[in-house]
Amino acid sequence: MASPTASQKYLSTRGGSYGFTFEATVLKGLASDNGLFIPEEIPTPPAGWQETWKTLSFQDLAYEIFSLYISSDEIPASDLRELITRSYSTFRHEDITPLNTIIPDENFHVLELFHGPTFAFKDVALQFLGNLFEYFLIRKNKDVKEGEGKRHHLTVIGATSGDTGSAAIYGLRGKKDVSVFILHPKGRVSPIQEAQMTTVLAKNVHNLSVVGTFDDCQDVVKALFSHPELSKSHNLGAVNSINWARILAQIVYYFHSYFTLLRRLPAGSVPIIRYVVPTGNFGDVLAGYYAKKMGLPIDKLVIATNENDILDRFFRTSRYEKHPVSPEEEGGEGGLAAEGVKATLSPAMDILVSSNFERLLWYLAYEVETPNATNKDQKRAQAGSVLNEWMTSLKKTGTTVVSEDVLNAAKRDFTSERVSDEQTVQTIRHIFTTPPSAPYILDPHSAVGVAASLRLIKAPQTAGQENVHHISLSTAHPAKFNHAVDLALTGVSGGEGVGEYDFEKMVRPQEFLGLEAREKRVRGVERADVELIRQAIIEGLEKEGAGE
Ligand SMILES: *Cc1c(COP(=O)(O)O)cnc(C)c1O
Repeated sequence: MASPTASQKYLSTRGGSYGFTFEATVLKGLASDNGLFIPEEIPTPPAGWQETWKTLSFQDLAYEIFSLYISSDEIPASDLRELITRSYSTFRHEDITPLNTIIPDENFHVLELFHGPTFAFKDVALQFLGNLFEYFLIRKNKDVKEGEGKRHHLTVIGATSGDTGSAAIYGLRGKKDVSVFILHPKGRVSPIQEAQMTTVLAKNVHNLSVVGTFDDCQDVVKALFSHPELSKSHNLGAVNSINWARILAQIVYYFHSYFTLLRRLPAGSVPIIRYVVPTGNFGDVLAGYYAKKMGLPIDKLVIATNENDILDRFFRTSRYEKHPVSPEEEGGEGGLAAEGVKATLSPAMDILVSSNFERLLWYLAYEVETPNATNKDQKRAQAGSVLNEWMTSLKKTGTTVVSEDVLNAAKRDFTSERVSDEQTVQTIRHIFTTPPSAPYILDPHSAVGVAASLRLIKAPQTAGQENVHHISLSTAHPAKFNHAVDLALTGVSGGEGVGEYDFEKMVRPQEFLGLEAREKRVRGVERADVELIRQAIIEGLEKEGAGE
């Protein structure tokens, strides 16, 4: 049993606010000074955890880890256990996140995170977050009698390019006292993702199909959060990857996969483990950083980016910079689209900046940029103000440059690899056709991680090191991104006796059969206009009976 934490509290990275409860952190999402919430202390597991946690199930490990971040005054142990059980009962695999050794001779493993209801890794966090929202609201409404007084209600608003929206909708559908509005750019999400979102008929789920781009949708959402009326009349909630509960939930599979691997190795083995993480907004790999800081023996966290490579550029140049090329080059071959994001085969990683990177930058500022602080409070305050300068510079000039010391501190825990679309396609093909992994099929996001892993496995400093293991996180089921998989595999044969690639037979899960033909609930909005969308939200809430 984890010893109940005395009192874990949270602070904002921008230095303005301290002492937040876990509940406030989860319900607010973003701090009022625009910073992100981080725990005041990164906890260490109880002594002997390497033994006592070794054989725990995913759910029991989740309980032990969550208990270190959520004080038991906030969520009593039995409630927390129940929330965890319910959140992971929707997964199709008994291990929740199984570890699949696809190339045993190379110590190469794929950590499959896509066995949740929407077939992508975001379910691991959003199934839990949906239950948490409901739990807090039920508790706030405990003393509000039916028909008397105003019930606490949360209106979640989010924009999606595909994955976050479906995972959020499946996490929140049917939850009491919560309504969810998801904006997606009309015709710009994949047909499967669109169908996943719009075929959920729960009354509290509202899909808004907006004529415009994903960035237009995101701008509207940002404007709504600071809308003078809407933000006063409604409690607005966010489910994007900056919500602390999402990071927390993702820590569990690092520990779980570590123990799974240990159980498969000869007793007494001390593997050197690198986690390779297909990265966009830096949430998934940041959870690995927390696991490492908690004491999990991780050699390196490898950030694998696609051609939207701001993070890879940071690790090569110490410049955190939105735009990689000069304006003259823009629009040229391989240059940037107007808004700077390149559309790749791994769209869930198509980002200009990685919002969660701010959390890592805070820890780096705390460690490196506070030499004269004499106590923890001073150190925190100084880290907050350094972070503030960095983020202001990024916002104003599109660039932040950190010192060599800061970069070196980051390199102790992280390395990075950039993977092109062409390499992504080649990797899907290679893994499908070449024994022993054949006929395993990767989705394009997972393939970015696998491409990076195979590169590292072949690197001279790895060659011959028998105890180095690479665990590559697989973030989506290939059926979700069949366009890229078809592109890579159509007409390709998967090694001896496997036969030609066939999407229907080899990839499509039962759950996707006929999905696109099912009844849908979606409202069109003809422009990405704040007023139009605010109106759609007010009307949606009224129809649902939640508007007040
Ligand atoms: C969201 C997502 C990612 C990127 O994860 P981050 O936490 O944003 O770095 C990678 N792959 C898939 C399939 C995703 O949905």
